[in-house]
Amino acid sequence: LFVCFEGGEGAGKSTQSLLLRDWLVERGHTVLLTFEPGDTEVGKELRRIVLDPATGELSDRTEALLYAADKAEHVDHVVLPALERGEVVITDRYVDSTLAYQGAGRTLDVGEVEAVARWATGDLRPHLTVVLDLAPEAGLDRFTGRDRIEGQSLEFHQRVRQGFLDLAAADPDHYVVLDARAAVEEIATAIQERLAPLLEG
Ligand code: C5P
Repeated sequence: LFVCFEGGEGAGKSTQSLLLRDWLVERGHTVLLTFEPGDTEVGKELRRIVLDPATGELSDRTEALLYAADKAEHVDHVVLPALERGEVVITDRYVDSTLAYQGAGRTLDVGEVEAVARWATGDLRPHLTVVLDLAPEAGLDRFTGRDRIEGQSLEFHQRVRQGFLDLAAADPDHYVVLDARAAVEEIATAIQERLAPLLEG
């Protein structure tokens, strides 16, 4: 079973992915918790390049390709091997982050960005994507400017947010959108309820 967490900055993806991991482990599942960008040897280097403010200007296409390379490493060396071992894989960000940030956020054509990202991932798709939705004003308050992306304009982050919401609206069977302002426990319970039928199936 492959589950993704998506959303903007400060929406609580890390907190919720840890809570979900614990809940699944208590139920006897073996869980691999991972993230993008950067959870492989090469990915660490790629993450540094795309996020270090010292990188300066990057062509939008270069950025999209570096994220795609990170995904190829991630899927081939981390995600697929774990799924083949029968584990539940939870990833903090995946293809939708690229569609939202490099597609909707930047000026690239979302269809083209998607084609590259699907190629990079062998079109591996999650069974469920949890979108933690938060107005960028609220999330960015917590740490504006920490990396190349958080320093982007409010409009950029608004396009990113809308990008996630559009993806979820187009495919409700594979998404759950939750208000990230709700209490941590309330969000965790909603995720568990949505996932429970998938664990039985
Ligand atoms: O989720 P995390 O905070 O580790 O993400 C690191 C940064 O990478 C965030 O600022 C996020 O906006 C950015 N990012 C991006 N495009 C992606 C994935 C992450 O700009 N495809």
